[in-house]
Amino acid sequence: MERLHRTGGYNRILLKISGEGLCREGGFGFEMDEVTKVAEQIATVAKSGVQMAIVVGGGNVVRGEKLANTGCVQRATADYMGMLATVMNAMALQDTLEKLGTPTRVASALPVTAVCEPFIRRKVMHHLEKGLVVVLAAGVGSPFFTTDTCAALRATELNCQVLLKATKVDGVFDSDPKKNPQAKCFTRLTYRQVITDNLRVMDMTAISMAMESNVPIIVFNMKKEGNISRAVRGEAIGTLIANEAPAGDQVKS
Ligand code: UDP
Repeated sequence: MERLHRTGGYNRILLKISGEGLCREGGFGFEMDEVTKVAEQIATVAKSGVQMAIVVGGGNVVRGEKLANTGCVQRATADYMGMLATVMNAMALQDTLEKLGTPTRVASALPVTAVCEPFIRRKVMHHLEKGLVVVLAAGVGSPFFTTDTCAALRATELNCQVLLKATKVDGVFDSDPKKNPQAKCFTRLTYRQVITDNLRVMDMTAISMAMESNVPIIVFNMKKEGNISRAVRGEAIGTLIANEAPAGDQVKS
């Protein structure tokens, strides 16, 4: 029998998609065939009646830190540019989802009212209750944060049962699986282990916030078709990060 992270699955989830999930490996910007693949998975889950809030990153267009390191643009300016990149990603995702028949709203933490609505918690909750997919853009709206931290924050305030962190690898590994073929993938970890062992899953602010709010995180590979549905159903894919990890059964392969 298939092991489950949570029997019965989840009813309201927060899905975090990095900007790099919207383009091919090593690519830049959004490539619409990749956006469509992600959107198809999201549409399937939304049509099953699961309430979905999605935090989208912007690293496929601007990473604040990298841009600031050029010395031309101040870090805060670069971060605002990064947030604006997430708005573009959210717009691309919204139209693609709606083309697939999935009504979607974009709510931005930075006011960009010509193209989307501002993030208002109660309004977003209402959209979710009505079955609309809500794409949350512009992170938390402040520089020096990341969209991963935003995902932990929004999962908490929107009462999501789980934070699904979609990546290009199968879960959290003890070393880089691209460089080390012997790298082990964990099935379960505690937040504390992630922090203490400095496992590079999300930034520490994001992990700390999830730990304090007791929001479980599932890190999984979204490039495998159907994986978002599997994670939502509670199937044991990827790595579950939560408060308790049972003794043993921590390493998958
Ligand atoms: N960013 C920010 N505040 C936030 C979220 C994002 O300043 O609350 C900026 C930051 O410069 C970041 C960029 O937006 O590098 C893109 O977000 P992120 O790196 O989290 O995207 P991802 O890696 O998930 O694609």
